[in-house]
Amino acid sequence: SFDVSAPWLNRVIERKPRQFVHAVDGVSFQIERGTTLALVGESGCGKSTVARLLVGLYRPSGGEVRFDDVDIATTLAGPGALPLRRRMQMIFQDPYASLNPRWKVQDIVGEPLREHGLVRDGAALKQRVGELLVSVGLSPADVEKFPHQFSGGQRQRISIARALATEPEFLVCDEPTSALDVSVQAQVLNIMKDLQRRQGLTYLFISHNLAVVRHVADQVGVMYLGRLVEQADKRRLFAAPRHPYTRMLLDAIPDIHMTGRSRTPVQGEVPNPLNPPTGCSFHPRCPHANARCSQERPALLTVEGTRVACHAVEEGRI
Ligand code: SF4
Ligand code: MG
Repeated sequence: SFDVSAPWLNRVIERKPRQFVHAVDGVSFQIERGTTLALVGESGCGKSTVARLLVGLYRPSGGEVRFDDVDIATTLAGPGALPLRRRMQMIFQDPYASLNPRWKVQDIVGEPLREHGLVRDGAALKQRVGELLVSVGLSPADVEKFPHQFSGGQRQRISIARALATEPEFLVCDEPTSALDVSVQAQVLNIMKDLQRRQGLTYLFISHNLAVVRHVADQVGVMYLGRLVEQADKRRLFAAPRHPYTRMLLDAIPDIHMTGRSRTPVQGEVPNPLNPPTGCSFHPRCPHANARCSQERPALLTVEGTRVACHAVEEGRI
């Protein structure tokens, strides 16, 4: 197993100038090597914060973030930064914003090769960039082109090729296909799955879209207001969701598994993550809430193979 986070994150707050934006609290999980853990939840649940903390884009204000038993923030501030960054890369949502429009593909994909000293000279760089482009279904001839000469899906393939340049073990993918048309999304997801099989990659896949998660995940973690409320094997989570919030999200997907479940829109609004409700922070939206729920925060317990934080599950009420 590939210990991505160990006993980390007591209280982590994403800091922007003059305001605290997102809080992540007590989230911990492991990802099996060569598999995908998808983190899902509505916007503001802290899933992107987890992604950015893992690759060192945010520093935790408290607690720690560990990758394979290495403290990320400390390591990235010291001489071990370059080797650690080589092992984990990030793919962002918006391929338009993440590619420099004035650079040729050769320079975009080749930058990490140069930075990490992985090629001897320009000819070797061009050769390696060509191979990386082929691995994502593009042509070696594309090295001479600029980002504007590609479609959205092709640009995301370029981002993936760049992320793969250092031969990382671990890729953090934050909504990598949500800016793309539905038909293109499937192509990009299939390329990612194919690369995972061939290279043994481990993915943390952030998404608000359960249909996408169903396509890519091995394990699914559901986040609500900065906390992990349920985590299970994908099959188990979709077939037998335990947490009322997970059930609400699944009920909102149209035709998810033809069981006759009716489509019910997600009820209620996500409260302000900086001032979450007391007790179980889902209690104002939960059809199973009782007095205990508004006072006592439920612990994340393992129940029949699912990690779930809910008093009603623990009490056997649901
Ligand atoms: Fe609902 Fe209570 Fe479970 Fe929270 S702990 S999800 S409020 S039943
Ligand atoms: Mg986000």
